[in-house]
Order: sequence, then C-alpha cells, then structure tokens
Amino acid sequence: MKQAFQYKLLLNTNQRQEIDRWLDMLRHQYNYLLAERYSWWKYNRSDCVIPQGEFCQIACTIGSQVLRNNPDWHSQSAKLPQLKKERPWYKDIYSQVLQDCVKRVKLAFDRYVKGDNKGKRSGKPRFKNKNRYRTLTYPQAKDNWIIGNKIKLPKLGLIKYICHRPIPQGFKIKTASITKKADGYYLTLITEDQTVPEFKPDIVPTEDNSLAIDLGLEKLYFDSNGNFVLPQKHLRKAESKMAKLQRKLADNSRSKKAKKLIRRAIARFHQKITRARQQWHYEEAKKLSLQAQVIFIEDLKIANLRRKNKLKNIDGKYIENGQCRKAGLNKSFSDCAIAQFVEILQHQAQKLGTKIIKVNPRNTSQVCWNCLNKVPKSLSDRWHQCDNCNESIDRDFNSSLLIKKLGLGVVSV
Ligand SMILES: [Zn+2]
Repeated sequence: MKQAFQYKLLLNTNQRQEIDRWLDMLRHQYNYLLAERYSWWKYNRSDCVIPQGEFCQIACTIGSQVLRNNPDWHSQSAKLPQLKKERPWYKDIYSQVLQDCVKRVKLAFDRYVKGDNKGKRSGKPRFKNKNRYRTLTYPQAKDNWIIGNKIKLPKLGLIKYICHRPIPQGFKIKTASITKKADGYYLTLITEDQTVPEFKPDIVPTEDNSLAIDLGLEKLYFDSNGNFVLPQKHLRKAESKMAKLQRKLADNSRSKKAKKLIRRAIARFHQKITRARQQWHYEEAKKLSLQAQVIFIEDLKIANLRRKNKLKNIDGKYIENGQCRKAGLNKSFSDCAIAQFVEILQHQAQKLGTKIIKVNPRNTSQVCWNCLNKVPKSLSDRWHQCDNCNESIDRDFNSSLLIKKLGLGVVSV
C-alpha cells in the first residue's frame, strides 16, 4: 500500500535561496528540453500548402535541414553530462533530481501524444514560468535520510521540518519532493508498505448493507436513507473578500512592491478556501464510509458537465447561447468540487473497507424510482411528482433511491 505524507519545512534563508535557485535551473532545463522536442516536429515536417484542386504530394522535401533523431528520454538524459560541462553551475543540483526533470518532460509529452494508461490525452505541454514550476523530486529517497525531525537531502543538507505525524512502522520511503506553496515550502514523502496489500473488498451488495448517494450542487449528496448534506459554499462566501483584493490589485496607483504583497495575500486566501473545502470533504466521506459496506454512486463525467456552451452563429453574428448562465453554473460546479469529493470518498472507503460501485447515471433524474414511469424535469424542477403512483418526494431523494435499485440490479432503465 502506498501512502503520502506531507510536512512543512522550516528553512533558513540560505536553504530557501538554494531551493529557489535549483527550481530556476530545473525550470530552464525543462523548457529547453521541451523546446527541443517541439523543434524536432517543426524541422521534420513539411509545410504542405496545397493549391485548390490539387492533391498533396506524398513525397516532398523537408527544407534544407538534415534529418534528426526524435529526442526521447534516453537521448535527452544522455546529454546531461554535456550540460554540466557547458554550464558548471548545474553540478550543484543532485544528479537524480536533474534526471527527474527529463522524466517530467517525457511524461508531459507522452500524455499529450499517447495519453495516460487509460488512454486519456492531456493538453499540449506548456513552457513553464516561475509560478508553474514549483516541485523538485528525489526519485530514490532512503529511510536513513530521516534523522529525528530533520531530513538529510543530498546536496541540500540537513533540513528541519514539523513532524506532526511520524511515518508508521513498516513503511519504506520511496520518493521525496519539495514543493513551494503560497505559505511556504513543503516536503512530500511517498511511502510504501509491501506487506499490506491493496484492499479489494469482496462484498456482495444487499438491500441492508448498501447505500446510494446522488451527488449534486444544491446538496453535496442525498443518500437513499433520506439524509442530505448542504454544500458549504466556501468560495461564494469568500467572494466579496476576494473581489476586494482583486480590486486592490487592479488599482494602478499602487507600487510594484504593494502589488506583490496583494498577490501573495490572494494566493494565501485561495489556499485557505481550498483547505477548508478539502477538510470538509474528508469529514463527510468518512461519515459516509462508516455508514454502509457498499456505496453506489453515479459515474459522472464532471469535465463534460463543466463544458462551455457551443457558440451559435448565423450570418457571422453570434446569437444567445446561454453561456452567461452556464458560467455561473460552472462556478458552482467548481465551488462544490464534486470530482474532488468522489476521489476523497474512494480513498476513504478504501481505508475503511467500504466498496464503491459506480452506476450509469443515465435517466436517474427523470425516472420514478417506485414505478419506473418517466417524469420529465428540467434542472429547475426540484420536486419529483409521479402521476402514475402518486410518489411525491425531493428529486435528489428519488435519484438516490433509483441509483440503489440500479446498483442492486433489481431494475434497469
Ligand atoms: Zn411513480
């Protein structure tokens, strides 16, 4: 079983400057390697300009450039010794940390070109500015690096951290990373205990040991026992304070230094909201996981829900597409962070031995759970009123009851 632990680092000025310097160098190297990969594409492709009515020639020349090999992880990491010769200050970085930078380029590129292990492709890798390159990783950390409440990192030396929770016995440290956040520097240790297997509960869901939840915006979830949790709209509540800070930032009469301070205040405020939301999600997920042995949830595609409305245009003019209203809805989706909640729920359930089963969400809001009669509703209709069997309940309650039935395999819609 793998588990991550995060600790706050207590750095002195020298250490902070050294980490910043490393991050800067690594970022330059990252951008250089990324540029190398893009330039290969550029020079090994022909700009194919096809006049109308003609076909693309299959054989064409590729400028005056000599064909190069496609840069990959091997060729790029083989160039590191050369880099250290030309730029001796790169010798200051621990060699494995530098190699990890090459791996990050490879990962970013592979996810863009081929997709991850589920085949999902990410966007085009970007060149990183200071705010986007914040982590350095020691890919092969050792257990004996930890000495009391200090960690001995090669080439950085002994670094103090706040050990609010010791690493449990039996867990071996795999990697160590340092991340720069809005309120300081953090150490993340990925640990593994090979004697503890990944938990795969083998429970047969029944009427009594299972629970279904309907996730939503108006309520975080509505379970099939009739309980619900209202969302704490952290971001919305904090909106006016945030707007005030943003207005301060937009005021150009302020000095550069003052603006820097405001920017930092905004970053910390965002961090505070995120942490409060995460804490709340963990608490709710734990409560849920303890209630039943099997939990049915909808298999939602959050990215699709958040998608922008399509632009409609007739004769070159844009007509109304409801994007303004959709934007408000999207903001609520982000604020509620359903995807995060689902992830945390799965994580907590695994720890507590609860099985999560995903159910196809198709028609779960429209069909009556009792008689399977279709009752069409729009998003604003919050009540389920069935004319067929006279069922009259909250629409989310109806959904959760139906999800339970679907999960148990009693019915299909
Ligand atoms: Zn009905």
